[in-house]
Amino acid sequence: MSSRTVSGNGISTGSLAVEPVASAIRAHQRFVMCAHEKPDGDVLGSGFALGLALKAMGKTVHYFLDDEMPRNLRFLPDSDKTQRTFDGIADDALYVFLDMSDQSRAGDVLTWVPRDRIIDIDHHLGNQRFGRWNYVLEAEAATGVLVLNLITALGQPITNDIATCLLTAIISDTGCFLYSNASPHTLRLAAALVNVGANKDLITEQLYQTRSYSGQKILGRVLDDFVLTEDGICYSAVSQALLEEFGATHEDLEDVVGALRAVDHCEVAALLKESPDGSYRLSLRSRGRVNVMEAAKALGGGGHFRAAGATLAGPLPKALARMLEAVRAEMAAERSQKT
Ligand code: 5GP
Ligand code: MN
Repeated sequence: MSSRTVSGNGISTGSLAVEPVASAIRAHQRFVMCAHEKPDGDVLGSGFALGLALKAMGKTVHYFLDDEMPRNLRFLPDSDKTQRTFDGIADDALYVFLDMSDQSRAGDVLTWVPRDRIIDIDHHLGNQRFGRWNYVLEAEAATGVLVLNLITALGQPITNDIATCLLTAIISDTGCFLYSNASPHTLRLAAALVNVGANKDLITEQLYQTRSYSGQKILGRVLDDFVLTEDGICYSAVSQALLEEFGATHEDLEDVVGALRAVDHCEVAALLKESPDGSYRLSLRSRGRVNVMEAAKALGGGGHFRAAGATLAGPLPKALARMLEAVRAEMAAERSQKT
């Protein structure tokens, strides 16, 4: 266990906003960490970091995950301890919902949890404050930053394992520091986490330097097939037939949409991934001028300014038309704001 703390490195992470959640945690004994659907490095890194800290305080922690652990996040400490049932979870446990703007993002299995047993820790714009206790900082790049503040407020040390989890959260939500949310403040926190033992090389290798064989083959097809419209929308689709050809799933398509955004003159990248039921998961990425969260919201989804998503009904031509309409409406809204 490291004796240095992140705040001991001269970085102030304290804030009054954390206190209600910190005191709720002090006053309770049993906790369940909850993730959103399609869990990513921010939600899982945040959950394991907080779980490790709470266990060090002598609390009982369960990690509820109604999903397989994504392959590229299996290096995370405690990632082998998630459960898909409520076995062993006491009736008085508090449920910590991480990295989601509303309770429904956790999926159908967690809609039954009543507000008075929910702690909501999140950084999404428009968070619904759906918990009895809410700790929401929209300006932070990752939920992991809030968890860092919380662990510090609880007086717990940032161990090597906790630092690796929290740096995974930050690296995941900043696109390995590529996005504009990687502010000087965020970079300083990341540096402090490396300083106390976060394994940066392992994280970047797992998240950004490794793609499955089938995922890489499909990326080739996506790059071969993409369309760039005159108004700067770069889109492509992955059918179930293509996924089956390579024995792949959506998990193999991690950040394929980023390769579309990299195309010159692309303002908004869109990847439509067919699901087994014939619907499409839409991933939207913006170069920074168009707010794709608003476009996703118009389609019943959500997310962030530069990264958002939604689910669209098939068939593909209809899904494509709806995506183009929503993105163009947002482009028009932004043009009219400027004039
Ligand atoms: P991805 O393209 O990686 O699936 O999602 C990018 C971001 O958009 C996620 O971090 C998440 O915040 C948000 N997002 C994706 N799908 C949905 C959705 O269906 N509903 C909402 N509210 N947000 C979504
Ligand atoms: Mn996040």
